[in-house]
Amino acid sequence: MADVTSRLAEIAAMAHLEQLAKSTVYAILVYSAFVLTIYLFETRAGADPGRYRSRNFAIDVLYTLFYKGGFYSVLLLAAVTNAIGPRLDFLRLNLGELVPWPIGLALFWVGGDFVTYWWHRLQHAVPFLWAFHSIHHSQEQMTALTASRRHPLENLSMDVILYFFIFNLVLGVPTRGWMPLATLITCIAVLQHAQLDWRFGPLQRVLVGPRFHAFHHSRLPEHANANFGFLFSCWDYLFGTAVPEQARPTTFGVEGAGIRETIGSQLFTPFRLLWQWRRRPASVPSSESHAARS
Ligand SMILES: [Zn+2]
Ligand SMILES: [Zn+2]
Repeated sequence: MADVTSRLAEIAAMAHLEQLAKSTVYAILVYSAFVLTIYLFETRAGADPGRYRSRNFAIDVLYTLFYKGGFYSVLLLAAVTNAIGPRLDFLRLNLGELVPWPIGLALFWVGGDFVTYWWHRLQHAVPFLWAFHSIHHSQEQMTALTASRRHPLENLSMDVILYFFIFNLVLGVPTRGWMPLATLITCIAVLQHAQLDWRFGPLQRVLVGPRFHAFHHSRLPEHANANFGFLFSCWDYLFGTAVPEQARPTTFGVEGAGIRETIGSQLFTPFRLLWQWRRRPASVPSSESHAARS
């Protein structure tokens, strides 16, 4: 009997793994098709295709495989949420059930983006958070895949706070509710980092496009600490952090952090910066001192 049970468990585990592998392959294919479409639009618009043959791009490919290939979800996110989930179950408020589901879903999407905006501002204002977020800023040759250039601990904190804590526990939004948002965010994040001058016409004051987000990655001091919005640009117009209309920036990156184009350097840099700032408090950056943070 024990043999049969363990065999059934084995089959179930294999079926789960097979399902996971299938959905991962499907996700990578869809993602690749989307990036290829953006590449064709960029080339038509006259952007330098050489960026896609650079070492910088190869590093972003590794980040993308890590996040979209299921490694991050299984090795980090699932491990953390499984460990803390049962302990935080007393916070399960299911506030989303208090209103009709279409209103709840709309509030959840807008509210989620509002939280993301302020979290992003904190990442620029608090040196500890900036140490990790600076990795996303370090790309000097932006391509669509720069969306994936994020330190694993930055991604983990965002996913745990937004998706797990707020959406899942407090609001009680089922997976089918936030999954479309997560997919949309992935597509928008990819598009935002493309070398395209799209501004979405009159909707530029509502939605974040590649032109809007380019200012966030700009190396110029006058663009520092601006255009924080992720899905909606209206937060920046509302709270006075939008860059006024001007020519699209052409130089990207972050000054003075010494972040090299290797995975090892980028994973280690936040800890090096924190150690350096601890030893020399005078070198801790103020939120105004960075030429580029995105
Ligand atoms: Zn930023
Ligand atoms: Zn970005």
